[in-house]
Amino acid sequence: MLQDGSWGRYHGPHCDRLRDALADFHDTEHVILCSSGTVAVELALRSVKVQPDDEVVLAAYDYKANFANVLTLRATPVLVDTLPGVPVLDPEQLKKAISDRTRAIVCSHLHGCFADVAAIRAVAAERGIPVIEDACQAAGGRLNGKAPGSIGDVGVLSFGGSKLLTAGRGGAVLTNDATLAQRIRLYTQRGNDAYPLSEMQSAVLLPQLQQLPDRTLVRLKRVRQLLSALPADSPLRPALYPDPAENDHDVPAFYKVAFHYDAKKQNGLSREDFSNQARQNGVALDPAFSALHKTHSGRRFKAVGELPNASVLHAELVTLHHPVLLGGTDAIDALVAALGS
Ligand SMILES: *Cc1c(COP(=O)(O)O)cnc(C)c1O
Repeated sequence: MLQDGSWGRYHGPHCDRLRDALADFHDTEHVILCSSGTVAVELALRSVKVQPDDEVVLAAYDYKANFANVLTLRATPVLVDTLPGVPVLDPEQLKKAISDRTRAIVCSHLHGCFADVAAIRAVAAERGIPVIEDACQAAGGRLNGKAPGSIGDVGVLSFGGSKLLTAGRGGAVLTNDATLAQRIRLYTQRGNDAYPLSEMQSAVLLPQLQQLPDRTLVRLKRVRQLLSALPADSPLRPALYPDPAENDHDVPAFYKVAFHYDAKKQNGLSREDFSNQARQNGVALDPAFSALHKTHSGRRFKAVGELPNASVLHAELVTLHHPVLLGGTDAIDALVAALGS
């Protein structure tokens, strides 16, 4: 990039190469690079023509910006419960969420768990509703032999922060539907790209994409080591879905590893205080997301039922951040020791 001077150009070979590489990696026809995963979700919602007063269904436990994006388009989020114990949308509950106003369904793969996109699509297809698959936390995994982000009608990736593919910022929309792709291009192209990913960002991402399959397998190995080393009386119980099988058809991607934290085993210490304590011992543990119905006014959304499973995740879930998973087996031993202290 430095040598060919493309760092200073608006259009250059690195973005083209990244687009091709992502399309190839995901076996998807169209890739639109953009400035963040949050923007990618917004573009995905726009591509399926979410309009004011439409409804968009998503899990009550999901990334906060997905909810905010629906509001940005002046549509109404309809929250459905997750499967029990795991942070992914329940396809059965989804049936009750669908109305004449449903314009899209958003489902996210979170914390090493996979949403059952095929089951969700089966429910959605009866009504011709497009499914947006948020794979921002799942780059590099395999779900039923496919790359996460390539299974929904539209898929979304993030290259932000410390995501599994990162340029500090950035994102992408994936789709096989030429009409949806064209709508996004028309929306973003204003003589210039209004939500660009730069040549520099693409140059940084290209080698990471090559390393991703190997790194995904190393992370999985370390997670298995961690789970087998956790003592039986640990306050942490893994939240995995589906159970990571020993095959290359289903390979979870661990941007975060989710655990249920049992406060009763720690004299009632909150998940926030327990995570703080772990951080002081050098373990990158965080309280997980807040459930959307717990943090937004009831006037902002509709809900299907009382959302008991998402409420449990809200109270109990903590996540381990991924860098330690590339740190070697000693790092996992040290992590388990630090959690016990
Ligand atoms: C990080 C993330 C996003 C948004 O990505 P940014 O690039 O940070 O805007 C969306 N969905 C999920 C599930 C994420 O983890």
